[in-house]
Amino acid sequence: MASEQRAHWNADVETMSRDRLRDLQSERLVAQVERVYGNSGFFREFYDAAGVKPSDIESIDDITKLPIMGKDDLRRYRAATGDPFCGTLCVPTASLVKVHKSTGTSGAPNIFGVTQADWDQATDNFARMLWRVGLRPGHRTNNWLEAAMTWHGYSMTAWGARKLGATVYTLEFDNRSVAQTNLELLAGADLNALFIYHPELEVKYLREKGIRPKEIHPNLEFVYSAFLCTDARRRILEDAWGVPYRNMGASGDQYIPASECEYSAPAMHFLEDQFAVEVVDSDTLQPVEPGAEGELVVSNLWAEATPFLRYRMEDVVTADFSPCPCGSTHARVNYRGRYAWSVAVQDRRIFSDDVENVLWAHPATEFAAYQLVKRMSQPQERLRVNTTVQGEPSEGLRDLLAADLERELQVPVDVVFVQPEEIGIGTVKFVRVTTAED
Ligand SMILES: [Zn+2]
Repeated sequence: MASEQRAHWNADVETMSRDRLRDLQSERLVAQVERVYGNSGFFREFYDAAGVKPSDIESIDDITKLPIMGKDDLRRYRAATGDPFCGTLCVPTASLVKVHKSTGTSGAPNIFGVTQADWDQATDNFARMLWRVGLRPGHRTNNWLEAAMTWHGYSMTAWGARKLGATVYTLEFDNRSVAQTNLELLAGADLNALFIYHPELEVKYLREKGIRPKEIHPNLEFVYSAFLCTDARRRILEDAWGVPYRNMGASGDQYIPASECEYSAPAMHFLEDQFAVEVVDSDTLQPVEPGAEGELVVSNLWAEATPFLRYRMEDVVTADFSPCPCGSTHARVNYRGRYAWSVAVQDRRIFSDDVENVLWAHPATEFAAYQLVKRMSQPQERLRVNTTVQGEPSEGLRDLLAADLERELQVPVDVVFVQPEEIGIGTVKFVRVTTAED
């Protein structure tokens, strides 16, 4: 079999037995707990307060002895000490070869550094992630992150692509110029895979110009990106681009390299030799029953500089730890939505993705910018959805959308039409929940 056809970047690790995987995790967790306790002010204080010592951690099964950390714990430490790394840096700053921040979609961003060893491991992890979505040696692709957002940890994905042997064009001056840069400036470059970002802007551009991407890049095999992908969004993307869409890592924090295989979609494989994956109840922080919905908690088992252990990702997920038909033994994580992008209505939790799936199935609100309006006191009695609309807004359309949403979500819904400026699309995705004064 030609190497380009192989299913995995690193088959030994990707297909290892769960027992071997757990041994590897045990070894790495023990070392990581010693590292963070010995070198980081934040973790020493955090673990002392919880009465946990490194010697308490002998295997991966002991991971639940460690307290779960969240963004608020980091912010508190930063407020008290003024340390931009929130006390989590385990190496001298002189060892950092690059520093990144998270997007900060739910508050102040976190700051992460990488050593050279971290850089080498993270780019290898990204190569493995990109191989899974279909990137291969000799492919030509783009990377707007390295071009326009080098502050973001995912900008290292460009080096992951180069590591696996792809050529990477990084010419976007802004992540809103992905279509223009890659379909006009790079016409003739024969790209095989396109890394997209703002689907609503890019698809609008394709349609307005009547562009068929395969006529510009005849060997285009797929488009890919890193956002939560609803069924409605995937259908629109695949129709407009004329090739399959592949999804990967939904969070830049901690350089998490999750990606879909052809069998797992929409769930994404994690690299469990690199990150321990847990699903917990958001209120009790106790593990949920296998397969049940809960909040994703991730432990970084490899980084030297700023590894977070048992870190709340604020994403609501389910996880499947059974082997995948692709051969991987590593967990498949299915994202339900961001906790911050959900609203409690009566006894139900409504995620922005639930609303998007309904709105975007209608021609008048396909790719609409929308927001769920969250009342200060939760749960609220009714769901309010603000949405932009194409063409003339009518009462009939508003009633139709409300009726569809009510049927799908089983809660009372008010739909309000707004102008795009009221929601706003910047260089970072629009915020899908807005909080209203009661
Ligand atoms: Zn798979």
